[in-house]
Amino acid sequence: MYPKDGETLDVYVKRCRLALKLTQSAMARKININTQSLGKIESGKTQKLNHKTRLGLAEILNVSETCIDSICRGVAITSEESPKICPKCWSPGHSLEAMWLDKRANYCFLCGSALIDRCMQCEQPIPSLKFRFCGYCGHPYNQQQEKTY
Ligand SMILES: [Zn+2]
Ligand SMILES: [Zn+2]
Repeated sequence: MYPKDGETLDVYVKRCRLALKLTQSAMARKININTQSLGKIESGKTQKLNHKTRLGLAEILNVSETCIDSICRGVAITSEESPKICPKCWSPGHSLEAMWLDKRANYCFLCGSALIDRCMQCEQPIPSLKFRFCGYCGHPYNQQQEKTY
């Protein structure tokens, strides 16, 4: 369940919960947070989620944690686009710079490298931003790291 274009965290979470036919307390239990915290998210009082909440939400909604992270920052990733990363500035497990997710962005605003959304060697999309290497061909996503090894 991907966020729609321009959807905010509160609207997104509530829409997904209703689609899953869960009550606030049932959903909160699944995420492993208390009902009050979920209520705050749905009413837009909480925009910053901790790692545990992000993970819980990502699991229930079947999206990546990065997707949850980006909607918290107000940059939604829709199903059609994969997140773009800078192969020089990004390191695995770190969150993305909002500017890389801009649809118009093709180059890193920090170093000018071309942004990538797939493996540079075999062109398979990046399945998770926690991966250091491409699962298909073993090519490292981060070029900087390749040099330090
Ligand atoms: Zn860069
Ligand atoms: Zn590859």
